[in-house]
Formats: sequence, C-alpha cells, structure tokens
Amino acid sequence: MFDAIVIGAGMSGSWAAKELCERGLKTLMLERGRDVKHIRDYPTTNLNPWEFEHRGQMPEYIIKDNPSIARCYAYREDNAHFFVKDKDHPYDQDKPFDWIRGYQVGGRSLMWARQTQRWSDFDFEGPTRDGFAVDWPIRYKDLAPWYSKVEAFVGIAGNKDGLAILPDGDFLPAWDLNCVIEHFQEVVRNKYDNRHVIFSRCAHLSEPQEIHLQQGRGQCLKRVECERGCPFGAYFSANSSTIPWALKTGNLTLRPHAVVESIRFDEETGKATGVRVIDAQTKEVTEYMADVIFVNAGSINSVSLLLNSTSSRFPNGLGNDHGLLGKYVAFHNYRGKMSAIHEGHQTRTYKGRIPTEGYIPRFRNVRQQETGFLRGYAAGFGARRVKEADEPVGFGATLTESILGKKPSLGPWRVHSHMMGATIPKETNCIRLDESKKDVWGMPLIHISMDYDENDEKMLQDYFEQMTDMFEKAGFVNIQTRDTKQAPGLDIHEMGGARMGHDPKTSMLNKWNQLHHCKNVFVTDGACMTSTSTQNPSLTYMALAARAAHYAADELKKGTL
Ligand SMILES: Cc1cc2nc3c(=O)[nH]c(=O)nc-3n(C[C@H](O)[C@H](O)[C@H](O)COP(=O)(O)OP(=O)(O)OC[C@H]3O[C@@H](n4cnc5c(N)ncnc54)[C@H](O)[C@@H]3O)c2cc1C
Repeated sequence: MFDAIVIGAGMSGSWAAKELCERGLKTLMLERGRDVKHIRDYPTTNLNPWEFEHRGQMPEYIIKDNPSIARCYAYREDNAHFFVKDKDHPYDQDKPFDWIRGYQVGGRSLMWARQTQRWSDFDFEGPTRDGFAVDWPIRYKDLAPWYSKVEAFVGIAGNKDGLAILPDGDFLPAWDLNCVIEHFQEVVRNKYDNRHVIFSRCAHLSEPQEIHLQQGRGQCLKRVECERGCPFGAYFSANSSTIPWALKTGNLTLRPHAVVESIRFDEETGKATGVRVIDAQTKEVTEYMADVIFVNAGSINSVSLLLNSTSSRFPNGLGNDHGLLGKYVAFHNYRGKMSAIHEGHQTRTYKGRIPTEGYIPRFRNVRQQETGFLRGYAAGFGARRVKEADEPVGFGATLTESILGKKPSLGPWRVHSHMMGATIPKETNCIRLDESKKDVWGMPLIHISMDYDENDEKMLQDYFEQMTDMFEKAGFVNIQTRDTKQAPGLDIHEMGGARMGHDPKTSMLNKWNQLHHCKNVFVTDGACMTSTSTQNPSLTYMALAARAAHYAADELKKGTL
C-alpha cells in the first residue's frame, strides 16, 4: 500500500512524484517502458558523426517500417532508441495522425526541444471570450507561483521581455542572438505596435544556480546534441532532474516495465483504490493500492487509461458520466513554414551554436477579434549563414583534400520561420477505444480521429501573409511559403480529452485537476487542457502537476481525500 501512485514517468509525472515525495508521501511511480538512467543510458551522447553507421541518416527500410515517426524532424540515427516504433505500438486512425511517443523512464522529456513559455490570461480567458469549449476554472494568478517554482528548479534561459501576452519569470541569462535575428527584431519593433521578436526561452542551464548544482546538473556547453540525452544534465529532463531528486527523498519507488491497464474503483467509498498493472516483460498482472492516484501517461494514453477503467458505477470510463471523456482533443497547427534570403550583413557571421532561436509571441486577436479566424499563432524565427556552392567534393582522400584545400566561403544569410497555431477543441476531434481490436497486452486499441478545420486553414493563410509582410519590411528577398500539409500529431502537443472546467456536467476535472466524480484521481498532463493556445505546453503541464500534487498532499493530511 502506497500513499500515492503516479502513472507515467515522463515530464509531468516526474513533477507530481517530486512534489508528493517532498511532502513525505510514499509514492509508487509506474512506467510502461524501460528504465533510462541519466548518463548511463545515453549511448550516443559522445559519438562523433562518423561513428554512426549511417552518418546520422535513417536507412530506407526503417523509414518504410515507421512512416509516422520518420516524419518527425527529431527522429534520427543518434536518438532513434528513445522513439516508440510505429510497428511496436499500433493504433487506429480515421484520418492521418502521426503519434510521436517515448515509452521509457523520462518519457518525452528526453527528446523535447525544450521551448518553454508561460500562459497569460489572454490564453486562459480565450474559450469564454471567443465562445468555444468551456471556461478554464483557473486563471494566470492561480498558476503563476507554480510557474515560478518549476522554472527555478528546471532552469530557464530567457530575457525579461515585459510582454503581457507572455509573462516573464526569473530567468537564467539568455545567450546572444545573431545579428540577422537582431536586425529582424529591430525592424519588427520599429514597424509594428504589437509584434515582438524575442529570445526563445528554453530549459537550459546557461548559468547554473545552487539548486541545479544540488541536482548534479551543469552548465550548458551549447553542443546542441540535446536529443541524445545530455551527460551534463544541462537541459531539463525528468531523468537528470526531478526523478533523481524524488528518489533522494527515499519516498519514491520507481517501477519500469509496468503497463497500467486500469484504475480500480470502489463503489462503496466512491474512491479509486489502486491500479491494475501488466508487466511489460512477463505479462504478469499485479494490483497496487494507494490513497491518491496521479494520471500522467501523456494525453492520449491518459485518456485511454481512464476510458479503460470501467466499473458498474462508471461503465463508460472513470468519471465519464457525460460521455465527454476522449472528446474535445486538440493540438497545435505547425503546418506553416517560411524561408527567405537576407542579402545584408555580408561581412558578419557568428561562431558556435545556441540551443534555441528567435520567438514571435502571438499578436493576432489578442485584445480583440480582428480577423476571420479565432485565436492566433506564435512563430519561431531563425537565421544562419549558408556556405557557398563550392562544397567539399568526392570521397576518401579527394574529400579530405577538398575540405583542407578550400577555405569555406560564406554564402548569403538564409532566414526561416515556423508557425505554432492554436487549434480549437471540437467534439469531433476525439479518442476512443476499439473493443474489437486488442494490443499486445490485451488492452483495447486506441482509435484516434483528428483533423484540421476551416479556422486552421484561415489562420495558416494569415501566418503566410503577415510573415511575408514582416519579411519584406526587413528587406528579405526570395520569400517562400510552404504548407507542409503535415497530419496532426507531428506538433507533438496533443491536448485535452479530459478537460478542466467549473461544471461537472461539462468537464472531467475541477480546478485542482481532480476528477469531479472521483476525487482521489488527478490528471495533470496534457489531457486536462481545456484549450491549447500557442505556447509550447510542457511548462504548463509541469506547473499544473506541481500545484495539484501539493493540493493532494494537503488534502490527504487533512483526511479530506
Ligand atoms: C521531438 C519533440 C520535441 C518537443 N518539443 C517540445 C518543446 O519544445 N516544448 C514543449 O513544451 N514540449 C515539447 N515536446 C512535447 C513534450 O515532450 C511533451 O509535452 C511532454 O513530454 C508531455 O509530458 P507528459 O508527462 O504528459 O508525457 P511524456 O513525457 O510522454 O510521459 C508519459 C509517460 O507515461 C508512460 N506511459 C504511457 N502509458 C502508460 C501506461 N499505461 N502505464 C504506465 N506508463 C505509461 C510513457 O511511457 C511515458 O514515459 C516535444 C516532444 C518531442 C517528442
């Protein structure tokens, strides 16, 4: 018997576990995948490009076998071992949905791009102002102290930008952006009232503080080999930070290879009693009991786990009296890409790398509705100097000679941007279980039905128009727009399905992320999201998880859970 169970050892679950353990609760963390120990299990972290069999490229047969993950920009030979292979864990799709997963201790916190922005009230008030989904039961003030707490522990490099749309935190120093990003920054500042290009805040230790050194983490050396796992713990991952911290309390039991099949419910007490677990290696079934349960399996898995947790009280899934569980799922629209050439700054270049670039916070429909679509988009912006066409040629000795013999001459600056659009949660974008098909554990197959809508198409065109205008004002030429037409899922920001709200009749979770109808179960990953806004979501998941865990510990102590 444990005080608490956390399902899923990824980004959000590790925050729940850390907080629960620090509050003295004996906590069991169940993870379906293998253990990944910090440093020990980063096999490629110090390899040179020529040490990879395929020089970092994925062979054709692997791409053919794994069409979904192969479409993910981050899936490479050096980090393929952290990605779930399509064939190993199939799911059904009505329309194309590329589900990018990492089943291991650390979850996708090992593979993420580490971009972190807070929400503001422009985001929390969105559904009510624009008349979609339901009202968020919290506002920025409820989450602000938890953002601060998470940011201090994680370590976020950034500037205080003083923008109402993107509240500041106490950041570690930002790195310098290159001269062309600075040029764009200045043009945008001078030509527009409400648009900004800022340093894109990221979860990297640019200047480690005492709390980071206590975690055993060190300074970011800007190798930018992050997705292989960082031996310095210089970017935040659950493996280098929250999980070892929770283990140090002596209160955490971490159990890998534990596939949680369902949450058990006791009709008499009206509470969840524990979970049913299938051992991923032996298929042996075990039940674990606890007073409180945190569901952090990653949005889609969390929703499917709740759907699979049936009882005579909840025949349609735990807490699902209204049939809303699995509905109103949403994601981010990342279809828009732009590129151009900058012919200026020819005498300037830069040295080395930084693990982030520029960020343009949302500027459309912020204070009032001004376009034919709802909500808006943020955008990334970067610039780099490309080499002239006299690239090294040949193989072997010829190649060496060609590299050593030529001083690489620099070509023009190439600039690029990508769109990060909000999508509107809709009942028709949903997840359900297909009882007629089973996965290898005998659990019903997950069925995903998601698509873009007219709002997304209009927003995409607006991104192209507005960004073209900004690029032209900056003097960029040869401006290209590209609709990647990528399927939902590749944004890797799937959200909703067990949304928060005031009213138990129209939402699954209350303002503490507690199931309205089963108070000792908390869902604190992306499944809880009532709407999506434009920010990269993980910082918000971590803040919500820490806040809910703190609340749960208080309630347990008071005996009210
Ligand atoms: C390439 C890439 C780039 C990204 N970039 C960013 C970014 O820049 N910024 C950002 O905010 N986000 C980014 N993300 C998304 C981010 O990684 C996720 O939002 C975040 O990891 C979600 O946290 P989570 O705890 O909900 O899920 P995860 O971190 O995925 O953890 C869920 C865990 O639960 C386990 N699990 C699942 N089902 C079960 C079960 N039934 N029983 C037991 N365990 C289970 C999984 O194995 C996994 O370990 C990126 C992701 C990827 C892959």
